[in-house]
Amino acid sequence: MPDLPRNLSENEQLMLDKMKKSQPVLWINPNKTDQLPQNHSFTFQHVLEAEKRLKRFSRYIQVVFPETQKLQGIIESKIIEIPNMKPFIEKNANKKLLGKLLLKCDHELAVSGSIKARGGIYEVLKFAEQCAIQHGIIKETDDYSQFAGEEFQKLFSRYKIAVGSTGNLGLSIGIMAAKLGFQVTVHMSKDAKEWKKNLLREKGVQVIEYESDYSLAVEEGRKQAEKDPMCHFVDDENSIDLFSGYAVAALRLKKQLEDLKIPVDQEHPLFVYLPCGVGGGPGGVAYGLKALYKEHVHIFFGEPTESPCMLLGMMTGLHDQISVDDIGLTNRTEADGLAVGRPSKFVGKLMEPILSGCYTVEDAFLFESLKEMVRREGIFMEPSSHASVFGPIQLLKEGKDYLKEQGLIERFDQATHILWGTGGNMVPQEQRDSYLNKTLR
Ligand SMILES: *Cc1c(COP(=O)(O)O)cnc(C)c1O
Repeated sequence: MPDLPRNLSENEQLMLDKMKKSQPVLWINPNKTDQLPQNHSFTFQHVLEAEKRLKRFSRYIQVVFPETQKLQGIIESKIIEIPNMKPFIEKNANKKLLGKLLLKCDHELAVSGSIKARGGIYEVLKFAEQCAIQHGIIKETDDYSQFAGEEFQKLFSRYKIAVGSTGNLGLSIGIMAAKLGFQVTVHMSKDAKEWKKNLLREKGVQVIEYESDYSLAVEEGRKQAEKDPMCHFVDDENSIDLFSGYAVAALRLKKQLEDLKIPVDQEHPLFVYLPCGVGGGPGGVAYGLKALYKEHVHIFFGEPTESPCMLLGMMTGLHDQISVDDIGLTNRTEADGLAVGRPSKFVGKLMEPILSGCYTVEDAFLFESLKEMVRREGIFMEPSSHASVFGPIQLLKEGKDYLKEQGLIERFDQATHILWGTGGNMVPQEQRDSYLNKTLR
């Protein structure tokens, strides 16, 4: 294990021992301040700009993805109450879960069926806009449905877009970029599911497969893209554009909660549980939510016990200088979207003042939760998504000190808990059946 920049507390030392044995933990972030990071190159202005850009593109999105017409070309998911999951959570926690339990349905986002539809599609659109403006074929005030025209396709066919992915980011980038007319290459890690690769190939995307994990697939993709000046590389580990696109979710969520008359304030705390891979998706959402709700929102990231890269990076302060391999973990998990051994440093740094904590969850739980969600609520989400369901369980079981310290015990019955669904809609029936028939305990 690399040298640590700071000493771990006694508690963290014990936690590290548990993590090495692949046991679930809850880590509370000692650096939380409820402020956005100061003097950082990323600001809330980026998020507002992303929202505006997505509005400009909504005319185009409606034309090429007719399923988005209901929402006027805005790719957004609903938020719903899932009261029937409460007893399942309570049984696992052996405690009562007070307050409201909601599911944010990014597992059914239009176009690519995962949270990656936010960031991934946004980055491709931004790149397309830049190209088009540079070549003088569009102005920001024009009607963007023109992007569906032949002149645009012809221009974009000279450019390439590349990305490294465990699957879902590749799907989002691939589908959007191919639709615009770009040449697309997706570098897929060994975790990527066969159906995702096949779907992309059907859309004319070049898929390159690796026998290695996510970080190496990204590295290889980055290297190849650097050699080619016509190629834009979508950098899942460092991209400000991806992050901005993800963060727009918070602005939309605020509106949805207002419409549902669900308050978020001193008396009504909001808890949000997000599955975390390299960190961009959940990090973007967390940034946006913290900007809007300050100390009234409590955000937790969930990771597989074999791939707790963000937890490890933040707890040690080493960020991308440590990998789960360094503490003897395999980075092997059925939660393919979360199979990341080394976190984004860009995101980890930004999360230092924002995040309440990280927890880990066993694969066996993900499959139990998957079945229960289908049985109790009729909702299918892929295994990665179910890392969110373990959040309230781990908070109830291990989070008493945090709740006390933050003055939340008295207000727990007025809290709102949001599980963030992150993927699932595109999963073919055959794969769903195989998940439903799987038991790991
Ligand atoms: C990618 C992904 C995540 C995590 O997003 P990161 O940006 O990698 O942290 C969570 N769930 C699903 C289904 C995903 O595809």
